[in-house]
Amino acid sequence: MKAIRGATTVTEDKPDLIRQAVKELLNAISQANGLEAEQIICIMFSSTSDLKSYYPAKAAREAGYATCALYSSLEPEIGGALEKCIRVMLLVDGDKQPEHVYLNGAKNLRKDITSVLNIAVDGPAGSGKSTVCKLVAKRLGILYLDTGAMYRAIAYKCVKDKRDYGDKDVVKHIINKLNLKVEYREGKQITLLDGEDVSELIRTPQVSMLASYISAYSFVRTKMVALQREIVQKTSCILDGRDIGTNVLPDCKFKFYLNASSEVRAKRRFDEDQAKGGTQTFEQVLKEINERDFQDKNRAVAPLQKAKDALEIDTSYMAIDEVVNEIISKVQEKI
Ligand code: C5P
Repeated sequence: MKAIRGATTVTEDKPDLIRQAVKELLNAISQANGLEAEQIICIMFSSTSDLKSYYPAKAAREAGYATCALYSSLEPEIGGALEKCIRVMLLVDGDKQPEHVYLNGAKNLRKDITSVLNIAVDGPAGSGKSTVCKLVAKRLGILYLDTGAMYRAIAYKCVKDKRDYGDKDVVKHIINKLNLKVEYREGKQITLLDGEDVSELIRTPQVSMLASYISAYSFVRTKMVALQREIVQKTSCILDGRDIGTNVLPDCKFKFYLNASSEVRAKRRFDEDQAKGGTQTFEQVLKEINERDFQDKNRAVAPLQKAKDALEIDTSYMAIDEVVNEIISKVQEKI
């Protein structure tokens, strides 16, 4: 006896479409495996919970699979699973190598039972990375790693301890003694420095500029990149930064580069600052954005640039949901 797997998708939850898709899938499996009807012992279906209008088992009977045992079940809702998907497993007599069949973009196994999924997102400040990544992570049921927070934490340490960040040896000393941890509480990233939650304290304009400065030191990057790789190695996650696609995960299958004009990006940051009761003028924010861009793009080690195989998305005039949907659909296309 052997098990043959298959899957397909439909565009809408309609009986006719489900009936047709099941018939097509079973016929394709039979053909690919040279099956006679009497070899099939049983056919088990599972479909995603967005398909309720018709049972695949019923469609199988109608398609002429008259004698084997049939079973249908609904899958629980799983973030990131393919939508409107029908999966099947056939138990059949015989010992030929099984040919599994995937139709209509249903190539992937479910995300929760497959290997680690990493998505790399790079781009300049204010391009929408963190907002978009948080939403993608939520929709796909994976973690979001904000790598900028790690550079910010080192910068914050320099500010807090009044250390001279321009002195390489001083920063080296800080890095060697660094006690930085990233934890997740209710899905939210918490940045812990010497055991203290600094997640909010690292969000000041001063820390932003300083993070950009110290992130140019190669020994800082070496340490941060090692930490980032350690975190994402075993965990499915979307991570954003400046060098994720080019340096942290050069072999990542899913790479995106978000961009927007500096004015749009400065306006986003200005609005955020105002909402928090900040006092910076738009001109100041724009100047800082431009300075940070220049520093990040022109440093010698792992400068900000689009990886050759990254998909660039200009978010200037896109709604957040549009960017999120674009990333998710590109990921699902390629899984
Ligand atoms: O993304 P965020 O604005 O929080 O990053 C702060 C600074 O940290 C950036 O301006 C950049 O200089 C640095 N950074 C980096 N590489 C990353 C993430 C952030 O150099 N992967």
